[in-house]
Amino acid sequence: HAKVHGRNQLQFFDQAMTRDLVRKKEIESELRAAIQKDELSIFFQPIVDLKTGRIRTFEALVRWFHPEKGELRPDEFIPVAEETGVIITLGNWITAQAAKAAAQWPKDLTVAVNLSPLQIRAPGAALGILNAIRDAGLEPWRLELEVTESLFIEDSENTERFMEELSSHGVRFALDDFGTGYSSLGYINQFPFKKIKVDRSFVSGPNIGRKSDAIIRAVAEMGSTLEMDIVAEGLETVEQVEAVRKAGCTLGQGYYFSRAVPDFLAAMLISQEREDGAVTPNGSRLAG
Ligand code: C2E
Ligand code: MG
Ligand code: MG
Ligand code: MG
Repeated sequence: HAKVHGRNQLQFFDQAMTRDLVRKKEIESELRAAIQKDELSIFFQPIVDLKTGRIRTFEALVRWFHPEKGELRPDEFIPVAEETGVIITLGNWITAQAAKAAAQWPKDLTVAVNLSPLQIRAPGAALGILNAIRDAGLEPWRLELEVTESLFIEDSENTERFMEELSSHGVRFALDDFGTGYSSLGYINQFPFKKIKVDRSFVSGPNIGRKSDAIIRAVAEMGSTLEMDIVAEGLETVEQVEAVRKAGCTLGQGYYFSRAVPDFLAAMLISQEREDGAVTPNGSRLAG
């Protein structure tokens, strides 16, 4: 019985693998055309000052509205884009779009763009980003680049050069998903970060409790000493917002405030916030 069972499982596994591979191949070829066909768009999620309730930044998050497959999440196609090198073209497009949108917002607001390691390694990467913001008419200090710890494992010399060059023009850097990878305080010491984003697994999920709270407190304490902003990601409830605020995080991001929304709704969030003097929680209800 065990043998038969085993063989069936193997077959099943095989089919699943083939299906995955086919889907990946499809995504790869379609992704190249998707930009031209206008299937991709950039959504924006507010990052809020936990003291004042004012919006400080919008994070640009890419969305793909596929004619047959429906809405694809970046977790599904960014890895494919990275493996195939399409991320270079895609990333350039995302940065340009995000910068154009941000140039329309009030000048105290910044935009955060996620960068893949491959984008940093591309020749002329720093110059490309500076050109994109110049073309959009966005001041360099209004652009923030979010990178993850995976960047430092290889090629840290190149990364440092890239970051120093852009920093010298005023572009800011945020360390994304902090606490999930090879979190090392060495990175914070060596690289010019203005902001640390504590991963949402410390805010919600199965391992929440005194330990995660103490970790957030320690990171927040370090942030305040080093004059860095500490962002809590994944805030979904008012209790979570209160907890991370008390723990010393300066900024918060999550569905409690708003999901990522298209640019016209981001503009509405901004004008509503300017009227009320603070962001309306669950602003995403604008989106219905
Ligand atoms: P990330 O940079 O850490 O972005 C935050 C992710 O958490 C987003 O997912 C966002 O929608 C989600 N999120 C925000 N608030 C909440 C919340 O309260 N609860 C929950 N459960 N989730 C929340 P998204 O948009 O699916 O993006 C996933 C990841 O894909 C991003 O993680 C980022 O690593 C990558 N990504 C997204 N857009 C881009 C892009 O333009 N370029 C690159 N290179 N990567 C991108
Ligand atoms: Mg991010
Ligand atoms: Mg993150
Ligand atoms: Mg992430």
